[in-house]
Amino acid sequence: MGTRAVIAGGSVAGLLTAKVLSGWYDEVVVLDRDELPLDAVHRKGVPQSRHAHGLLARGHQTIERLVPGFRDELIGRGALENDQHNDVLLYNEGRLLKRAPSNLTGLLAGRPLIESVLRAKVAEVPNIITRPGTAVDGLTAESGRLTGVRINGERLDANLVVDATGRSNRGPTWLRELGYDAAPVDEVRAGIVYTSREYRRVQGDADFLGVISGHYPENPVGCGAGANDGDRWLVTLVGMENNPPPAEPGVFEDFAAQLDGPELHRLITRAEPLTEPVRYRIGPSVRRRYEKARRLPEGFIAAGDSLVCFNPAYGQGMTIAALAAEHLAEVLENGDAQLTRRYFSGMAKIVDTAWVMSTSNDRRFDTTADKQPLASRLLVRYLSRLNKAATTDVVVGRAFLEVANLLAAPPSLLKPTTLFRVLRSG
Ligand SMILES: Cc1cc2nc3c(=O)[nH]c(=O)nc-3n(C[C@H](O)[C@H](O)[C@H](O)COP(=O)(O)OP(=O)(O)OC[C@H]3O[C@@H](n4cnc5c(N)ncnc54)[C@H](O)[C@@H]3O)c2cc1C
Repeated sequence: MGTRAVIAGGSVAGLLTAKVLSGWYDEVVVLDRDELPLDAVHRKGVPQSRHAHGLLARGHQTIERLVPGFRDELIGRGALENDQHNDVLLYNEGRLLKRAPSNLTGLLAGRPLIESVLRAKVAEVPNIITRPGTAVDGLTAESGRLTGVRINGERLDANLVVDATGRSNRGPTWLRELGYDAAPVDEVRAGIVYTSREYRRVQGDADFLGVISGHYPENPVGCGAGANDGDRWLVTLVGMENNPPPAEPGVFEDFAAQLDGPELHRLITRAEPLTEPVRYRIGPSVRRRYEKARRLPEGFIAAGDSLVCFNPAYGQGMTIAALAAEHLAEVLENGDAQLTRRYFSGMAKIVDTAWVMSTSNDRRFDTTADKQPLASRLLVRYLSRLNKAATTDVVVGRAFLEVANLLAAPPSLLKPTTLFRVLRSG
């Protein structure tokens, strides 16, 4: 394809993209402003790592294809595979989805562990060079084409530049400096706050591996909690900005009493805490519509949270980062002509499903968002009815989980078999 691809940001999206590009470019250089330890530790550039992270079934499968051996390595280091239908208590609008064995396999692992395993795997690839402690300051271009990046006052030439700088999202600023208008942006304010704490996990303390409780207007308190890295529970409570989960020990546990189900509150009032609660204010969900940009320089792409960052309560971020890397491989199969346009127009379709799923619920809370589109209002109402059916009907529950795991598109919930079961339950 060319001699060098440069990736700004060496986190999950950057690493997965590097792995793909290593098959096409002589040299792939990953630049990150943080030091990048191989161990599973928290670092400044990824503040979300102290909060619960799960990998959806689609993400799990896709990363394994991109980075063979990822699953075994992760499990070997303490991650837990989980049957999303049987091992996780899932409350939707106060209703507990009926559990049943399935092959919807997700992975429960701390965010630092996931990144650490990916980093070790990528480090084995000889033509990927990682330069930690190196912040990208801007881009360079000539005649409508990117020619590289600026770092510490120097220039590093590249045929392709990937913005994988995450939520801090430097790409639009860099493009503006080169005279390109900002791409249109869709934004929905979820208005939620996460507070998380870790506890010791002992054998037999629960008959589940995770609890997910969605927030909704009648009870805007939720959670995402899971068995984590061997002997831990990582418990994230979710609240709204006007009623955030407290960061004081003891009060944090009391807050969990507001959850729809009693299980998590019961668990954490008995378990031994291992850390202090930490808080994270989730900003808006932002989708950068590069596919609609009037002009873009050839040789620029964006991946992971810098392209789209979701309300994390739906656990979609890493899966979309993996799907973007897989899509990039398909785009490269057809050469590098118009690579930027082809990449972004394909990504728009990939992001659509996840975006509709997460923002349909969030728009119910966002007073500043545009009026909710009819399709999205209907989806919310239908899902509410479907959730009721899923408390007793495992076929309906399974159909819902396939969509939530991004294995099927929302219209699949309208298949006659599912529709009939949902209407019958009502
Ligand atoms: C609270 C929270 C919970 C989440 N839970 C889930 C979950 O359960 N499941 C899920 O799939 N996803 C979840 N996500 C999303 C997930 O964390 C991200 O999708 C994932 O980390 C991939 O992000 P990324 O690689 O695009 O960016 P990040 O992980 O944010 O990394 C960006 C990288 O860019 C580097 N960087 C920034 N600026 C520069 C620069 N100028 N030069 C060089 N390097 C730079 C940073 O140091 C960092 O390494 C959650 C997010 C949040 C906020």
